Amino acid sequence: MADDEKTTDARPEHPTPLRGPDEGIPAHPKGKVPGVGADIAALATGLKTTLGEFFSPQVTLEYPEDKSPRSERYRGRHYLRRYENGLERCIGCELCAAACPVGCILVIAAENTEENRVSPGERYAKTYEINMLRCIFCGYCEDACPVQAIVLGPEYELSDTSREKFIYTKEKLLEPLPPDVQARLQSKAKET
Ligand code: SF4
Ligand code: SF4
Repeated sequence: MADDEKTTDARPEHPTPLRGPDEGIPAHPKGKVPGVGADIAALATGLKTTLGEFFSPQVTLEYPEDKSPRSERYRGRHYLRRYENGLERCIGCELCAAACPVGCILVIAAENTEENRVSPGERYAKTYEINMLRCIFCGYCEDACPVQAIVLGPEYELSDTSREKFIYTKEKLLEPLPPDVQARLQSKAKET
């Protein structure tokens, strides 16, 4: 083998020997081994921190029983609102769908009739769906609605078990009927 082809062995000839159990421990600043008093002082410092946290006000919540309050401007799950007389606010104008930047709202309108009046306007939303997987909770739909029918509430727990369940239908979005309207409709149904 030529001299220029010789390789250099990078390993040290004398590898660092293993150290004993006491080697490498830094010496005490004053050259003394800490005594029992220093140990008790260190223990007291630790206990002071522990006891201080134990008696300080609790900062965690017992979620999900306790929930932290949302800000007034928080935008969570959507709701379709009703008037006090039970009629749906939505008039099927589709302005919310037009304003939605991700196109996750589907509105199919139908005509109100005297026999079947659903909303005060000429039309109502026969189909109203929101794909919550695409929604970015920007609130543009709420801003665009001329009758404050669609609103974003404080609810943020939206987990579910399948993609299909995140298509929120009108039945899921619509507020329940006011109790007095519900009772009136039930008594009317019993009479007929
Ligand atoms: S909050 Fe925004 S993204 Fe969600 S449905 Fe309304 S407009 Fe669309
Ligand atoms: S929720 Fe409002 S904006 Fe959307 S279709 Fe109904 S009335 Fe129109």
